[in-house]
Amino acid sequence: MSGEQTPIAVSADPPVCSLPMVPGGRCRLFEAWAQLIPVGLFATDAAGVCRYANPAMLGLLGEVPVSSPVRDWLGQVHVEERGSVVAEWSQAVSRGEPFRREFRLEEGKGAAWVHCHAFPLRDHDGAVSGFVGAVVDATERRDTQARLDFLAYHDALTGLPNRDLARDRLRQAMSFAARGGFLVALLLVDIDHFKMINESLGHSAGDAVLIAAADRLRRCVREADTISRLGGDEFLLILTDLRASDAVATAAAKILQALSEPLTIDGHELGGSVSIGISVHPEDGSDFDTLLGKADTALYQAKAAGRNTYRFYAEQMNADALRNLEIRSQLRWALARGEFELHYQPVASVADGSVVGVEALIRWNHPERGLVYPDGFIPVAEESGLIVPVGEWVLQEACRQAAEWRRQGMARLFVAVNLSEVQFRRGDIASSVIAALADSGIEPGLLELELTESMLIGSDARVLSAIDRLAGLGVRFSIDDFGTGYSNLAYLKRFQVHKLKIDRSFVGGLGQSGSDAAIVRAIIQMARALNLEVVAEGVEDRRTLEFLREQECDLMQGYYFSKPLRNPFKMDGRPLRPEAWAGL
Ligand code: C2E
Ligand code: MG
Ligand code: MG
Repeated sequence: MSGEQTPIAVSADPPVCSLPMVPGGRCRLFEAWAQLIPVGLFATDAAGVCRYANPAMLGLLGEVPVSSPVRDWLGQVHVEERGSVVAEWSQAVSRGEPFRREFRLEEGKGAAWVHCHAFPLRDHDGAVSGFVGAVVDATERRDTQARLDFLAYHDALTGLPNRDLARDRLRQAMSFAARGGFLVALLLVDIDHFKMINESLGHSAGDAVLIAAADRLRRCVREADTISRLGGDEFLLILTDLRASDAVATAAAKILQALSEPLTIDGHELGGSVSIGISVHPEDGSDFDTLLGKADTALYQAKAAGRNTYRFYAEQMNADALRNLEIRSQLRWALARGEFELHYQPVASVADGSVVGVEALIRWNHPERGLVYPDGFIPVAEESGLIVPVGEWVLQEACRQAAEWRRQGMARLFVAVNLSEVQFRRGDIASSVIAALADSGIEPGLLELELTESMLIGSDARVLSAIDRLAGLGVRFSIDDFGTGYSNLAYLKRFQVHKLKIDRSFVGGLGQSGSDAAIVRAIIQMARALNLEVVAEGVEDRRTLEFLREQECDLMQGYYFSKPLRNPFKMDGRPLRPEAWAGL
């Protein structure tokens, strides 16, 4: 290190290195120290502005802007810490107190981390005349500390988080899951016959197998998930943000597949496999030890079942996951095989019973199970993303049918199609709708798209722009299952909605519950005030219909009038009118 004094962030006045409050001899002493150890030394005036710095200080801080003494070394502090360092320094200066702090510097400016310690100097009267300070490079110590911290929470062989960190991550995952109503799954993965590998090929081969297993596991999970090594040949995976047990089963199947691919260690080809035990929060518990214990029990069952497989702790989950996996694999073919069909439920005027439109409701004509209703497969289709092509088919088919009815000379009837949130997130819904309109030739005003409140509440710019684009073409929007979602109705202002569909859970209870009647009445009044049409869903009896008439509800839909049917219209093109209706 050179002993030469170098000017730093000082203007010409006062002269470089002339430190009125620091005797010159002291400076030379500083320089002598700095040659022994790389200590950056600086001195400031009473206002805390740097008036002197030695070469080591410049080396540590890198290039210091010379134009303004105010932007001295503080300007080199990393931007994320600068505010707090400046605040602490200013406080020390104004109070005449020592300053002590470790902080990060801007990248590429010299050292990464420095430790700075400065003291006030006082004149004969005890007034602060300036500060002298020392700065040392703290990068290595910080790195060592970071490395120690890493080792404390990671497995040395694989670099994966250890049990302590896994425990912490689970806590975070559970608190996040609680907000979104998600599941968190613990997958305890155990390498089958690991002991044999270790004993026959030696520990270094065993280590290589563990490292390879860790790599493969990393490739099976998403970034937000955690893989940890608990010790021996046991790995723990924490999967977050899951909606259903079959998503866990899919992840488990992927792991079984990835770890069964042959591995070559020391010239030996090893055909490995793993067994997996699964527990799921919140069903199986809400703390690490309970969930790990249950995953362990499930692991035991997976091994007892012949290894190379997975088991859930809860029997029901095994059954659900299997059923959903089966549905999912069959759904993939259902579209190509033409197994879906649409049924149409008429929507009628409450005032005179005339049919004004229909709602298209999908059914799956399953080769073995018969007609499957949407509740039995829509959630799986959403979770797997298959709802995007299925939803496109629904749009195409519903528009085609509407055009067909028009050709047969039927009155102008709208056709309503239910949309899933996933179609907005994963598909290009606006293009699908535009294509369905163009292919069928129906006017956009006859197509109504049913959204749910949750889709609009949590919506991002993509949803908003798709809705705007379609509404601009004349497509109409309704809010389905209204009243079951959120009490915050601000979204009604932001979106061009035309209609509210009162959820059938309120309509069905009109006969028995006073509060349901109050809710339905309030929704009808609100819709009127907002100039929205209102439909009551699930009208099952005459009393309900009479109530709706009194409240001047616009439209109704329900079994009392008609169930969803393949063709709700008579061949002569006139709507069905059940006998019960005629009496009103
Ligand atoms: P939703 O849109 O609220 O549809 C109304 C549901 O209520 C239909 O059930 C209909 O059959 C039923 N319903 C109508 N009138 C009555 C009644 O008087 N009493 C009772 N108890 N029920 C009545 P479905 O067809 O089983 O459909 C269930 C849900 O599946 C629909 O609820 C909708 O959210 C969804 N869905 C149906 N088709 C599609 C589709 O093509 N795409 C998407 N994404 N979802 C669909
Ligand atoms: Mg609907
Ligand atoms: Mg509904």
